[in-house]
Amino acid sequence: AKKASKSSVQFYSQALKDASQRIIELENALQTAITNHEFELFLQPMLDLTSGTILKAEALLRWNRLDGERIGPDEFIPIAEQTGLIVPIGKWVISRACEMISTLNHRGHSCKLSVNLSPRQISDRHLLEFIRGSIQNSHIQPDQLELELTEGVLVDNYDKVQYLLTEVRKLGVSVSIDDFGTGYSSLSYLKKLPIDHIKIDRSFVQDLVSDENDKAIILAIIAMAHSLKLNVIAEGVETELQRNFLQLNHCNLAQGYLFSRPLPFAQFCDYLNTTVSN
Ligand code: C2E
Ligand code: CA
Ligand code: CA
Ligand code: CA
Repeated sequence: AKKASKSSVQFYSQALKDASQRIIELENALQTAITNHEFELFLQPMLDLTSGTILKAEALLRWNRLDGERIGPDEFIPIAEQTGLIVPIGKWVISRACEMISTLNHRGHSCKLSVNLSPRQISDRHLLEFIRGSIQNSHIQPDQLELELTEGVLVDNYDKVQYLLTEVRKLGVSVSIDDFGTGYSSLSYLKKLPIDHIKIDRSFVQDLVSDENDKAIILAIIAMAHSLKLNVIAEGVETELQRNFLQLNHCNLAQGYLFSRPLPFAQFCDYLNTTVSN
């Protein structure tokens, strides 16, 4: 038994070593990823459940390393967040999203795009100016850009968030609360902060059809949001049954693999062209 525990300790420390080496490697590679053009924004359509049209999409970051390796945001965003690299990367995301909106406008699709904001970006005092500049440079309507923030971001930086959201709202940019229901925050911010939309987390949508508790939670979120004049977006919709339930219960928008995976820009344009509604 003693021998076994020793080898499992060795195994464990080797695994830790590998993991930390991987993080250091990614940290270094992230430094040059923007200048090497290794980032790409994919777009995932959101379906308006009332009209059946695609009026909005979420921008999701992809990292294609020069050596061909593709790394998902769940792995590199936390590293970018810890090192502060998320600030320049997040700016790249915002300006690229504005460019895409502009290109879509020129092709006759007036589509909104939402971008995800990390906690670290909220503390960047140049963020507001940067957003304003990106909108101006790309000649888009401010209300075509949307920001997604998680509840955690709101709680940790309440004063900064309040200032930022008030100012972006003045610009005409709208704001969504992402992963709603998974945070530990009180709900009071919903009436205090200028918020437009709530995105119900995928974890509630997943077992919606079989789990009575998830059904109850979703109905409660929709009712609460609507009484506060907020729109509701359901994430992670994968089946027709989920879609029907959401539609029947007046959820406003739905996003998920049932409609489309996140797509590279060119494929997203094809998608818009082939959906009858557009
Ligand atoms: P998120 O903001 O909650 O984004 C939704 C995630 O769910 C995306 O994963 C999307 O591909 C995935 N998804 C969408 N529909 C379905 C579905 O029907 N089923 C399943 N199983 N998954 C679905 P992705 O693209 O891997 O992104 C993961 C997370 O990385 C995002 O979660 C977001 O927190 C973060 N992220 C992505 N891009 C950015 C970015 O530009 N900036 C920041 N700060 N974070 C980002
Ligand atoms: Ca999001
Ligand atoms: Ca989300
Ligand atoms: Ca989520």
